[in-house]
Amino acid sequence: MEVRVRYAPSPTGLQHIGGVRTALFNYFFAKSNGGKFILRVEDTDRERYSDESLQDLYDTLDWLGIKWDEGPVVGGPCGPYIQSERFSIYQEYAKKLVEMGKAYYCYCSAERLEALRQKQIEEKSPVQGYDGHCRNLTAEQRAELEAQGIKPVIRLKVPREGSTTFHDVLMGDITRDNKDISPDPVLLKSDGFPTYHLANVIDDHMMGITHIMRAQEWIPSGPLHVLLYQAFGWEIPTYCHLPMVMGNDGHKLSKRHGSTSVRDFRKKGYLPEALLNYVSLVGWSYDGEKEFFSREELEKCFSLEKINKAPGVFDYQKLDWFNAQYIRRKSDSELADLLMPYLVEAGLLDESAKDRLLAFVPGIKDRITLLSDVVSMASFLKDSGAPEASLLIPKKMDASGTLDALKHVYDTVKAGLEAGKNDEELQQDLMDLAQKLGIKNAGVFNPLRTAVTGMAVSPPPFSCIRLLGKEESYRRIERAISVLEKEIENV
Ligand code: GLU
Ligand code: ZN
Repeated sequence: MEVRVRYAPSPTGLQHIGGVRTALFNYFFAKSNGGKFILRVEDTDRERYSDESLQDLYDTLDWLGIKWDEGPVVGGPCGPYIQSERFSIYQEYAKKLVEMGKAYYCYCSAERLEALRQKQIEEKSPVQGYDGHCRNLTAEQRAELEAQGIKPVIRLKVPREGSTTFHDVLMGDITRDNKDISPDPVLLKSDGFPTYHLANVIDDHMMGITHIMRAQEWIPSGPLHVLLYQAFGWEIPTYCHLPMVMGNDGHKLSKRHGSTSVRDFRKKGYLPEALLNYVSLVGWSYDGEKEFFSREELEKCFSLEKINKAPGVFDYQKLDWFNAQYIRRKSDSELADLLMPYLVEAGLLDESAKDRLLAFVPGIKDRITLLSDVVSMASFLKDSGAPEASLLIPKKMDASGTLDALKHVYDTVKAGLEAGKNDEELQQDLMDLAQKLGIKNAGVFNPLRTAVTGMAVSPPPFSCIRLLGKEESYRRIERAISVLEKEIENV
């Protein structure tokens, strides 16, 4: 039997870590079994729906490199894959249930239902919910209500006795007394809109879904869904409810812990490879040892058996670590392409300066955790004016010693750059110079760094010079020299 699984989000908010983990587990399970991954948009809640959320869903999966085999945009044999385009199907199947005697029309007014609710609360009734008032209406009674123009809802007949059990791959058998299942819930509203349960079950059946992998918060819906499958006489898919994703403190991951929307992670400069790799390890492991997995590897080796029963912990620091590792694995050119948009957005660089950025990359590759870190590291591109003399003068040196050193440094660096020397050669030249002048290396490197960047801490000075460009670097060094000259005159 071909494995068919689906990710069925409701586009009512941005894609977050928990949702993406569900999507990834479904996707990898499908791929590793040679099956199909289906995307279904559960947009029956039109009030909470937003176009932005739907677009965010597509963008997130694209960014992660997750392609759906069937679903919106790409289509497929079980379409449409957007629930709001399937209303006639739900109406037809709800009617079928009525014909089969498994569901019935209910004409109760909102007032009656509200009064019923109040009464149940007052009487502390053990059963909360619909009382089955319309369960046994005769054809005549119905005709009369219809004649009054009342539009009915369709309710499922939930058995009052017995219990319902469903099996979950991770949790084992889950049993619920039928009397504890929501009594006769609405399947189809009077305006013809399906409720979530009806649409979800019909679609999973009609789309041939074999395994339902979804968040554990859906377990309470399980028995009701099983009753629906039984009412239709359909085969029940295999359930695998995924353990919760928690923050470090043992509470369900939420905004309190930090960003949870993938869009935020993306903006900050997490790489899709890193997020995909790390999120796949939240509640799943291969052999407990191997940590680095490419998408292609996970497509081969993912298995349900290795999903952890315990909740998974999402550790932001671990994600940072993965991200830094994946950044180091990029070629300089790939990384420059990834960093450029951050610098452009910050107004520090424009696209035409790719070569300069490329020369800067080796100096920062090992120092950044997030792509956005490049902005602070390259902030010196914006000229903040001549540095203070005190900033230029290294410890244990004075203004005239620093001036002398910086003049020599300037000549050496300029000659080196004009001769096309690389960073190591330039560095060596400066160390030779320090020795010749009889000063510490810091005596040549620090004034250069401050002259060029205006900062006491920065990426390696030569990397900065490459990014700044020769002419601007020369201008800044000359400016620093005159700062020192003035300082000496004033003393
Ligand atoms: N639309 C539901 C959600 O957003 C899907 C639940 C399920 O996977 O069955 O969580
Ligand atoms: Zn009723």
